Amino acid sequence: MTDILAADIGGTHLRLVRIQANGTITSQTKVQADFSRFISDSRTAAETHILDTIVHACEPMLAGNSIAAFGIGFPGFFIGDSGILAASPNLPQLHNFALSEQLGKRLGIKVAAQNDALCAAIGELHCGVGQGVRNLLHITLGTGVGGGLILDGRPYTGENGMAMEFGHLRIAYDGQARFCGCGGTGCVEAYASATAVADRYREKSGVTLDSAGVHAAAVNGDERAVQVIDDAGLYLGRALAETIKLMDIKIVSISGGLTGAWDIFYPSLIQEMDAQLINPLKGRIKVLRSSLNDRGGLLGAAELARRIQQP
Ligand SMILES: [Zn+2]
Repeated sequence: MTDILAADIGGTHLRLVRIQANGTITSQTKVQADFSRFISDSRTAAETHILDTIVHACEPMLAGNSIAAFGIGFPGFFIGDSGILAASPNLPQLHNFALSEQLGKRLGIKVAAQNDALCAAIGELHCGVGQGVRNLLHITLGTGVGGGLILDGRPYTGENGMAMEFGHLRIAYDGQARFCGCGGTGCVEAYASATAVADRYREKSGVTLDSAGVHAAAVNGDERAVQVIDDAGLYLGRALAETIKLMDIKIVSISGGLTGAWDIFYPSLIQEMDAQLINPLKGRIKVLRSSLNDRGGLLGAAELARRIQQP
């Protein structure tokens, strides 16, 4: 019997698990992996650093039974299911990086790599609130805001791997629109990511807290904290309404650290989404909090590994 590896790479950390064929997780690790810190390095140095970091994290898990395959969720645009990273917004020196192939050579196993938010959508479809659903829009609220789309039961990547860049939909256009890491202004990510919530709270209060701290302050009655979380819900609702008008999706799932503040941002999300939807769609869209406690990306990566594992 063989095991698989699955990894989820976020804005600051790499999480890795080894999973038996029956689904039991036998070991797991979380290591610091802030790849964006290498933004000024050359393409080759950045590729080598990413490969070294992932291989180093995997090494302790390679002992014992053979590993059949490795699935990995990575923040960037992948071309179809080729495992080639076309580009990554926070790692601009990377382009057409054959992540699956190069990792496979280093580790001696088959590797499948895909966009991290799409992995989370796949995880939700197979193990979470998306089970039994044919069409699913999944949103991740972390360091950034990601989107993953399942159409007719299959992951949809777009022509260039760039489908569902939900975090960079523009929902604010006035002169006060916030700057986004992508170089634009007024993007969803500049209002509804965990980073944006922390930044906006600091700007309003002069106090530095992470998004969980802002949530705690909101629960304790801090009106500024309530306002920035409420705003995150409003802008998410606005972006969801536009997406749903385009895609006619009935089920939306949301994961990520900011979902801890669900009770605060969900009402403003639903209110704004329904306000902006066309009449036949109002009140018909289910927006569900992920049931996977942020394991969706790992579980989706594991599903990709199962699909490519050798018999
Ligand atoms: Zn943006």
